[in-house]
Amino acid sequence: MKAEIIAVGTEILTGQIVNTNAQFLSEKCAELGIDVFFQTAVGDNEGRLLSILDIASQRSNLVILCGGLGPTEDDLTKQTLAKFLDRPLVFDSLANKRLDDFFATRPQFVRTPNNERQAQIIEGFIPLQNRTGLAVGGIQEVDGVTYIVLPGPPSELKPMVLESLIPILAQDQRLYSRVLRFFGIGESQLVTVLKNLIDRQTDPTLAPYAKTGEVTLRLSTKAESQETADIKLDALEAKILALKTLDGQPLKDLFYAYGDDNSLARVTFDLLKEQDKTITAAESLTAGLFQASIADFSGSSQVFNGGFVTYSIEEKSKMLGIPLEDLERHGVVSAFTAEKMAEQSRRLTDADFGIGLTGVAGPDKLEGHPAGTVFVGLATRNSVTSIKLLIGGRSRSDVRYIATLHAFNLVRQALLKD
Ligand code: ATP
Ligand code: MG
Repeated sequence: MKAEIIAVGTEILTGQIVNTNAQFLSEKCAELGIDVFFQTAVGDNEGRLLSILDIASQRSNLVILCGGLGPTEDDLTKQTLAKFLDRPLVFDSLANKRLDDFFATRPQFVRTPNNERQAQIIEGFIPLQNRTGLAVGGIQEVDGVTYIVLPGPPSELKPMVLESLIPILAQDQRLYSRVLRFFGIGESQLVTVLKNLIDRQTDPTLAPYAKTGEVTLRLSTKAESQETADIKLDALEAKILALKTLDGQPLKDLFYAYGDDNSLARVTFDLLKEQDKTITAAESLTAGLFQASIADFSGSSQVFNGGFVTYSIEEKSKMLGIPLEDLERHGVVSAFTAEKMAEQSRRLTDADFGIGLTGVAGPDKLEGHPAGTVFVGLATRNSVTSIKLLIGGRSRSDVRYIATLHAFNLVRQALLKD
């Protein structure tokens, strides 16, 4: 193992503080039998940090960064590493809860949006909790290099290293993780349902992340091989999928796929291809978003021949051949219209599945329906159904995006049924 320690902070370069973290980390690495070949200090500067990350990732397989996890403008370590790895920052729910508890018990402190940054980790990273501070650390292997992010203050870094990091690095073991993706349950409910498992977690660990419209769970474990890791991960996965939501739905039914880079669109697209089926859509509020998501995948012409964007009531009638009086009588935001849009688009293109998307993207009401009211119709060769969604309190783009997720989910469920 070739390790490199990078201390981030202009104060180190100007001599205001002594880089005692590097000394501490080198000492601990030596105790673990990890060779430290480089120690670097770099200022709070994105360009220079990117350049040192570039060099470090080529010459080392363990890159330990410390400092710059705080809430202020010059704290840019996580943001820069995220940029370097081309990954977004996501909230860690435990760190977020610590932040909530901290401010709940200290009314004299004002919580600013900057504080939120301390609860963020780079997507896919395993969080290292900060018992003596607020900024969460993290560790993850990416393309053969393990990156570790630690806070600057020694009073935070030392307990994190001793309590969380060394146990991970101690054995000559690797971290294996598995991501389970859920649709149809919010993060807070999933955390509530998993509370016992999360509270008692040691190995494997369990970390939920909320994404727009869906939730993922990362299961991580240390093991000598993929096989031994799989035994532990399989056992935890089975426990999770055996649980039920608060209203009694099996989690197994809401679990839709594995993988960090997967999506409902991807899974549905793959099923369509596997089953040699075609799909189309008539879209109102999403104005082509559903169809564009299909076209994102190479080979989309095998499953998608074309479809409709019917924004106004007139075009719904004209392009899809639905009598204008019927649309006016039922309203544009209605199960009737969603179903007709699905049915007619399917008929006109002779596809196996037709989706109809109509609703209120917001922020204003439409036909008396609040923003976020959406009807999704699904037509197959022998049935037409629809669902009503209330995607409240979301931005216009979130409403449109979440509506397409539901559309994909309907098609996915239909494909799994036959
Ligand atoms: P904060 O939330 O305090 O801003 P941070 O993770 O952003 O934490 P820095 O802002 O880089 O960390 O450093 C905060 C303080 O931690 C520094 O003023 C210094 O006292 C200490 N510190 C940072 N880096 C080192 C280091 N390499 N060696 C010793 N002390 C350090
Ligand atoms: Mg700082």
